[in-house]
Amino acid sequence: MKVMTIYAHPADTITNCGGTLARHADAGDEIVALILTHGGRIHANRYAQEWRKDAPDTAIASAGLDEIIAFKKGELERAAEIVGISRLVTLDRDDREAGLHEGLVETVAEHIAAERPDVIICDYPQNPVMAANTHTVATTTVLAALGRAGAYLRNLDGQAEYHVKQVFLTSLPVFPIDGLSLYGVRNDVFVDITPVVGRKVAAMDCFDSQGYSGLFARKLIESANGEAGRAAGVNFAEGYYRLYNETHATLPLTDAARAADPLVRHVDYSRINLREEYPLP
Ligand SMILES: [Zn+2]
Repeated sequence: MKVMTIYAHPADTITNCGGTLARHADAGDEIVALILTHGGRIHANRYAQEWRKDAPDTAIASAGLDEIIAFKKGELERAAEIVGISRLVTLDRDDREAGLHEGLVETVAEHIAAERPDVIICDYPQNPVMAANTHTVATTTVLAALGRAGAYLRNLDGQAEYHVKQVFLTSLPVFPIDGLSLYGVRNDVFVDITPVVGRKVAAMDCFDSQGYSGLFARKLIESANGEAGRAAGVNFAEGYYRLYNETHATLPLTDAARAADPLVRHVDYSRINLREEYPLP
């Protein structure tokens, strides 16, 4: 299988689906990560916090955009190697962009058509507006690009149409266990990342310039992936919502559902003490 991730900022790929990618990498799948913006302004802790010091390090405090982008790209490359991303494609768009741009839609459509992934992973398009508008814009761009890639005509556009087989949407912060709550709007697919959670911790430790290393990495994984794990019945999970419905020959029943033991489920999914197994670097 070929997996393509498309996110707004460098760390999004790891925080949202880094564990899932590690599992696909272990299964021998090809993974391409497309990152739309450089993310230099939205996560500027290394630079903004230096200015707050009594005697700022001028080499850090006076860094220009090129230096900031290069530093963040170094962090991203190390994280990508840890989880097993095959190839990074960074477009380095300005992370202040707040709207849908025709040129970017075409660029993303061309990347999708050229890569021809089986599945795409990106953010849920209705992130909270105040906190995460750029993620909404990124996914709106992806959905528009998917439509465009599906409408390519070889004699007009020089390339054939391409239709991705499934899109898995992340950052939907809703984890009810049953399927009737909230009128069906919930994470409806979970990936068990327990076997690779240490690699997700290590990959997040790479993003030191935005304060994602150390305590935050462990806190986020314990809380967000721990809560998704609670819903999934495993220690740590990443949650998704499928864009397209699924067709099966018979009613689907997963191995996890067959193996689940409701009596001890809460004990089973609490076995790993993350901070003990993966201490601060
Ligand atoms: Zn982001």
